[in-house]
Amino acid sequence: MSIAPLTTVAYLGSSTRIHVGKIMCLGRNYREHAKEMQAEVPTEPVVFLKPATALVGTGGMIRLPSFSGDVHHEVEIVVLISVGGRNIPRASAFGHVGGYAIGLDLTARDVQSAAKKKGLPWTVSKGFDTSAPVSPFVPMARVPDPSQLTFSLEVNGAVRQRGSAADMIFPVDAVVAYLSTVFTLEAGDLIFTGTPEGVAALSPGDRLEARLTDLVSLSVTVA
Ligand code: MG
Repeated sequence: MSIAPLTTVAYLGSSTRIHVGKIMCLGRNYREHAKEMQAEVPTEPVVFLKPATALVGTGGMIRLPSFSGDVHHEVEIVVLISVGGRNIPRASAFGHVGGYAIGLDLTARDVQSAAKKKGLPWTVSKGFDTSAPVSPFVPMARVPDPSQLTFSLEVNGAVRQRGSAADMIFPVDAVVAYLSTVFTLEAGDLIFTGTPEGVAALSPGDRLEARLTDLVSLSVTVA
């Protein structure tokens, strides 16, 4: 099976690769996950970045980093920016979205917990190679109301996480508007929109299948 090259993504059914710029990620965007992490429910989005080299496509392999003994899965809806902008009003935010995918924000939880205790950045725990598996993108036109999207993750055939975009604390249009006040958004940027509850550790040999309703799926294996 061919594995998609690093730093690019594609629309469902298209062979054209899109170069990925920034990968922006939201932490704690679902109340039940904030609770399970014993974290406060935020009043402003919690934002971190991953490098584009963290990407891996469907059919790819997750390589657990040697510096962690506790890499967790976090299944998330991923937004593709197709039209750049800055200070985008929430009312026109969807005009900047090209499509939606299902992805995994893999997290070295032990490294992240140590960083949190010391007030240090999360970059190592969140940005390592293969920490951002992403399915092909479903074009925006096929998703009339993204707040109706539901998603799930199975590990070795057992459901581990289920989510609904309706439960997001900051919905997609609000997130696009907010991020555009911090970063200039560019075509090819991605946004990981946060995970629902049920995060847990991965082991070598695990087979992961994430689904965005019945629109698209992502299959990856842990090396
Ligand atoms: Mg996450």
